[in-house]
Amino acid sequence: MKNEIYKYLTQYKDIYDTQLYINNSLEEVSNTQNKKDLNSYFHLIKDCLDCSLGYTRTNFVFGEGNAEADIVFVGEAPGEKEDLEGIPFVGRSGKLLDKILSAINLKRNDVYILNIIKCRPPNNRNPLNEEIEECEKYLKKQLKIINPKLIVSLGRIAATTLLKRNSSLSNLRKKIHRYNDFDLIATYHPAALLRNPNLKKNAWEDFKNIKNKYINGN
Ligand code: URA
Repeated sequence: MKNEIYKYLTQYKDIYDTQLYINNSLEEVSNTQNKKDLNSYFHLIKDCLDCSLGYTRTNFVFGEGNAEADIVFVGEAPGEKEDLEGIPFVGRSGKLLDKILSAINLKRNDVYILNIIKCRPPNNRNPLNEEIEECEKYLKKQLKIINPKLIVSLGRIAATTLLKRNSSLSNLRKKIHRYNDFDLIATYHPAALLRNPNLKKNAWEDFKNIKNKYINGN
């Protein structure tokens, strides 16, 4: 098991070209209770067939990151690459998310990253209401285990789904909302920033705000 974890972290470091402190004694990756709980939960739900997406997915994309994270990022749904690898945000959007995290001095493994929907909708269509309704129970349980200080929703679909409000992202940004007793801040989906780089200025404001309020301990 230790060797597998070591191999995984080494591959991760190579793939994301990120700084990762790997201690051969592996004390850094010791199993915390949250990590154990998330792992057991993953095994409980990974074969889910509660909606039709279970029949077309390659992998159930549970989420990844630090089970003790203060900040959880919630995206919409896995895309093609995520479906193939079983890991959220590993495509172009994910690379941008990594850069944004590093701009506020965070690494992937400082936060937890997951999606509202755990299985890829065919051709990356928007998730249907019934798929969201079936899947939200998993997100709620994951959040309960991680117990973060802040949820950051990425994109309009993630924000409106969690807040149960049909509103524009510009109306939802720059406020602290609540989702199940957690603070929630809504910002852009990295894919939107790739499509429209003019939005990066606003996104940077959001992330500076997140850093000041939730990372610097202000
Ligand atoms: N977009 C998302 O919303 N989630 C992913 O995991 C990848 C792309």
